[in-house]
Amino acid sequence: MNTSFELFDIYSLKTPCYVTDEGLLRKNLETLKYVRERTGCKILLAQKAFSMYETYPLIAEYLDGTTASGLHEAMLGREYMGNREVHVYSPAYRPEEMDKLTAICDHMVFNSCAQWRKFREKVQSCGRDIKCGIRINPEYSEIETDIYNPCFTGSRLGTTLENFDETALDGISGLHFHTMCEQNSDTLERTVHAAEEKFGKYFSRMEWLNFGGGHHITRPDYDVYRLIKVVDYVQQKYGVQMYLEPGEAVALNAGFLVAEVLDTMKNGMDIAIIDASAACHMPDVLEMPYRPNIIGSGKAGEKPYTYRLGSATCLAGDIIGDYSFDEPLKAGDRLVFCDMAIYSMCKNNTFNGINLPDIYFNTQNGMKHLKAFGYEDFKSRL
Ligand SMILES: *Cc1c(COP(=O)(O)O)cnc(C)c1O
Repeated sequence: MNTSFELFDIYSLKTPCYVTDEGLLRKNLETLKYVRERTGCKILLAQKAFSMYETYPLIAEYLDGTTASGLHEAMLGREYMGNREVHVYSPAYRPEEMDKLTAICDHMVFNSCAQWRKFREKVQSCGRDIKCGIRINPEYSEIETDIYNPCFTGSRLGTTLENFDETALDGISGLHFHTMCEQNSDTLERTVHAAEEKFGKYFSRMEWLNFGGGHHITRPDYDVYRLIKVVDYVQQKYGVQMYLEPGEAVALNAGFLVAEVLDTMKNGMDIAIIDASAACHMPDVLEMPYRPNIIGSGKAGEKPYTYRLGSATCLAGDIIGDYSFDEPLKAGDRLVFCDMAIYSMCKNNTFNGINLPDIYFNTQNGMKHLKAFGYEDFKSRL
């Protein structure tokens, strides 16, 4: 992997910590900007995956704005990327939050025709021209893990054709779907055809279509040219402005989690206890589940010294995985976990009173220490 990781000294940092790298982030953003420029589609940062707002002015150089899953993310997008578009989608809006949302959002996506009917008057009388859309459920998804599949049977996310009430479309200028997760553009192509089969008759009545996130556009094997072809096809056929709102792809492989070995022990195998936790600091490792890469390590047995890496919480299953190293691990050694900018900082927690990792930004002008956390952060949530 091409990282500028060599440019910083991991032993100068306070652990555990997340380090986001400006060069790696810009590299992703260049790819996304290329897609925007080639197609005229708009691309938003889905803050759910990455909401390190210190980087928003930088992201604003490349993208069209932010999207939010509710009021707080929308406020963050408005505050730190306020000269760009602010979009919001929520499975169900709270009536008492409508005034705040209508004051800051440019697009609002409703989960059903009933949600739209409920809030239509409020939105239309707010004095700002907000573009409103309905989230559709095309009932087509290639995601195999149900927890990440918005189209599984009984899903609450979006409206199926059967439940789509075309008499509610007055004031609706767009449709939205989000049915992908870490997928390539061939999946998008098939999804678009499935969505067209069901909802195509409404597409040309719209001004814009938003095809959600889950596009792994910045992954090395992603077929950007097929994406461009699909976007061109949709925009030309239906005369719409297209939006994409990737989260992962924006900061994919653009950050690290640096942890320190606290102790080593044996129980049928070598074990190392580190100051980062899967449960607290990289929850997708347990939820997805997946095994993050560590720089300089191999799979179990590949290098001479294999360890099971566990955290300092009391949760027996708080294990990151089995890894091998060239040298034995000892207290004080540092480990660098890859691809830790996304679904990490915005998803972590203080379970067991474990401290939150500090946040660093490795910029072209040197390392910036943005955040340190302590007892008050733990206490203030309880
Ligand atoms: C999660 C989500 C995204 C971003 O998904 P990624 O997989 O991070 O690209 C975009 N839009 C909606 C509606 C989402 O729920």
